[in-house]
Amino acid sequence: MGKAFIIDVAKCSGCRNCQIACKDEHVDNDWSPWAKPQPDTGQFWCRVDEKVRGQVPKVKISYTVRMCQHCEDAPCMAAAPDAVYRRDDGLVIVDPEKAKGKRELAEACPYGAIFWNEELAIPQKCTGCAHLVDAGEPPHCVDVCPHGALRFGDEEDFAAEIAAAEALVPERAAADRPRVHYLNLPKRFLAGVVVDLEADEVVAGAKVTAENLDTGEVLAAESDGFGDFWFHQVPAASWRVYFEADGYLTRVLEASTVDEDRNMGPVELFAAE
Ligand code: SF4
Ligand code: SF4
Repeated sequence: MGKAFIIDVAKCSGCRNCQIACKDEHVDNDWSPWAKPQPDTGQFWCRVDEKVRGQVPKVKISYTVRMCQHCEDAPCMAAAPDAVYRRDDGLVIVDPEKAKGKRELAEACPYGAIFWNEELAIPQKCTGCAHLVDAGEPPHCVDVCPHGALRFGDEEDFAAEIAAAEALVPERAAADRPRVHYLNLPKRFLAGVVVDLEADEVVAGAKVTAENLDTGEVLAAESDGFGDFWFHQVPAASWRVYFEADGYLTRVLEASTVDEDRNMGPVELFAAE
């Protein structure tokens, strides 16, 4: 029966317990035939990437866990079929004996998940904690996650999650068919604050409408009691944004989330005559 990882980015607090647990499980521990010991520096078989998004004061931090994607059609297996194999449960293993001396394998993974161990002269990566899975236990990273952001189990039990999931690198998904499925991967946000500088007040309850100039999609929000408005998880796009509030002239501005999240800053409304 095939196994799968589910990573719900929205539940991750960035505590890095998983990253540390991977070190705890693999540094100085020989889990042959699945893996030789991981060095204590220079390798992260499980890594939490932190990304600061937006512009002050509208800033969010996203945490994305990266690990071997245990691809069904694994480029690393194609590069070294004699040294990399897939177990019946789908976990992809770099055989520490057969891969000895194959430095080029570290370059074969498009996800950067394989590391070169100079001391042992072997390429290494996440095994999905195969030694624990075989003992009926979850991978250590999954076990220590305090928020349930990491899950591991039978594919069949995750059918709903997998149907709703995305791949870490969507453009590679069809070719590699990863077994690590992501929920709530960060998109962009578009935000700002609506103000009346003349009155030295924020404008609460303003209707904010964002038109995606690439697709025509229209999103609606309302400024809150602090004048703030947010559009979360929007695509990378160009936007035309309309601001309407009772007693004010309608204002239309353009903004882009093509390259990054966008804080439009203070948007001043002017009182209608
Ligand atoms: S993520 Fe990289 S190392 Fe893991 S199975 Fe896919 S190609 Fe191989
Ligand atoms: S242990 Fe869980 S919450 Fe903490 S960084 Fe890892 S995935 Fe995120």
